[in-house]
Amino acid sequence: MDYLVLINRASAPVEHGEGERERLLPVGGTDVFLERQAACALERLMERIDGWRAIVPVSGWRSGKEQKQIWEESLRENGMEFTRTYVALPGHSEHESGLAVDLGLKKDVIDFIRPDFPYDGICGVFRELAPDYGFIERYPRGKEAVTGIGHEPWHFRYIGTPHARILTESGLVLEEYAAQLSAEEGNVERVYRKRATCETFYKMPSGEVPVRRGERTTYRRRCGI
Ligand SMILES: [Zn+2]
Repeated sequence: MDYLVLINRASAPVEHGEGERERLLPVGGTDVFLERQAACALERLMERIDGWRAIVPVSGWRSGKEQKQIWEESLRENGMEFTRTYVALPGHSEHESGLAVDLGLKKDVIDFIRPDFPYDGICGVFRELAPDYGFIERYPRGKEAVTGIGHEPWHFRYIGTPHARILTESGLVLEEYAAQLSAEEGNVERVYRKRATCETFYKMPSGEVPVRRGERTTYRRRCGI
């Protein structure tokens, strides 16, 4: 699976293939599903901060049919402007890949489209650590013109490590980061096996970055981006 895949209004529609559901796992003891690796990373992070006591997964993987229903319902209830700002077109939602999760504070009433996920408290703790587990805040304020989506403090996208940390520290959004990666010739993830250790090398905009596999991910940048 290409965890850096760019999904937006301009990208090719997400393909829903057979066996898609077998790659999914539930998160937070709910019926919200994410792609396996993303689900495991989220569970590890939530375990570390005891996050599920206060946070709920509001929405994860969606089928093409579900995304269409959400779009049409929002169009009826909220109109075109709101819907275009906060709901991705069917075929163009990250949720259809299983790599995106909407999180909300545990409350009696949770807004399904715009759940409350502030920048302080437990949500702030989550935000600080999320990049170390491969998650980025995908639609930050100030980047609406680049992402084509309004500011969504609740929507997190799994892109894996070390990319999530580098992207976050660089203040880039995935559109910008992906453009930098593809501008680099020979940007291929390679895995080398040396004796008992296994290192993954990523070709980054900033040079080659060795990454140790395992719980602790370390990376080195030759120069900044
Ligand atoms: Zn979302």
